[in-house]
Amino acid sequence: MTLAEYAAARSTHPQALRSEYVQLFRDSTAAPLAPVTRCEEHEGVVKFCLDVGSGLETESVIIPMDSYRGSKWHTLCVSTQVGCRMGCTFCETGRMGLMRNLTIEEIVTQRIVARRLRHQRTSLPTRPYSYFRDGIRNVVFMGMGEPFDNFDNLVGAIRVLNEPNGLAIPLTQMTVSTVGRIDGLQQLADIVRREPSWANLRIALSLNASNDAVRTQIMPINKSAPLAELQRALLDYPLARRGLYLIEYVMLAGVNDSVEDADAVADWCRPLRCVVNLIPYNPQRDAAYATSDDATVFRFLRRLRSHGIFVKRRVTQGRNLMGACGQLGNPELRRPRRTNRAAGEPVDSNPA
Ligand code: SAH
Ligand code: SF4
Repeated sequence: MTLAEYAAARSTHPQALRSEYVQLFRDSTAAPLAPVTRCEEHEGVVKFCLDVGSGLETESVIIPMDSYRGSKWHTLCVSTQVGCRMGCTFCETGRMGLMRNLTIEEIVTQRIVARRLRHQRTSLPTRPYSYFRDGIRNVVFMGMGEPFDNFDNLVGAIRVLNEPNGLAIPLTQMTVSTVGRIDGLQQLADIVRREPSWANLRIALSLNASNDAVRTQIMPINKSAPLAELQRALLDYPLARRGLYLIEYVMLAGVNDSVEDADAVADWCRPLRCVVNLIPYNPQRDAAYATSDDATVFRFLRRLRSHGIFVKRRVTQGRNLMGACGQLGNPELRRPRRTNRAAGEPVDSNPA
């Protein structure tokens, strides 16, 4: 809850509850939190899971980052769902199908637990009001799930994370990554129109293909939200004046990594203010694709640069933990596609 919601629930003026609220959020020992069921570390990357009942878990990853200028910080990757219904063929989470949406509390708790874990693993002070000193600067909604499939809880969680009397994470330090749900972008655009500061929220789009034929093959959403419409939706979105879209592109050997693909990606990106992030494919448990080799990734990167596109190659971290992009998901929870056991309802396999 934001402070305003917390006060409304108690029928009190926010000012009267402000210090109680501040204490609740910033004292890492105050609130009972979902139990950590798994926590593994490899080369500084920490993957942790929280028990959210019925045998389900959230998965989150704390990733160390280095800036070009030598400063160090961490990014927290959070889940918005357990599983995902989008069925992208290269993604481990997609194979699980959707188990359920996470609540606002379950999303926010991932950030609070990350802080606890950082304090346990380092000598950072555990006293209250030291939220800004746990070394985690950014929150990216790139864990399990399609954030726009859980729109209200996503927005609710961002509000709580952003609450000045709570964790106070600036919108510029939160990134929502979407498979490309145009209606989700439009709903977010409506919020930006009502609350202009939301233009600072960062948007990442998973592009992953240079043409509709390949994109539809690897990302079923493309049937209802093809590339031209997606580009239009991004052009229409009221992004902050200096904002940039992050365009994510998973490199799949022989599928989407040719020079012709790079040319087509450059054409698609040209009208957008964006930076392209090339992500070498992280193998799934019984790898369906192969990772493009370094020479191919750099050829693709140079080609995009030659077209004047700003492009970076993402350094892969967390593969040994199955904690890298697209590797989150518990195979034991995998369910037959098109059924939603929890709700007993069919799951739409062609969403948008
Ligand atoms: N559902 C959202 C956010 C979660 S996926 C989305 O699709 O954007 C986060 C990122 O991981 C996406 O950019 C996705 O394309 C990428 N990804 C999925 N599977 C991957 C894999 N096996 N290797 C590398 N990146 C992958
Ligand atoms: Fe879902 Fe994103 Fe994975 Fe696609 S890439 S299945 S949208 S989590």
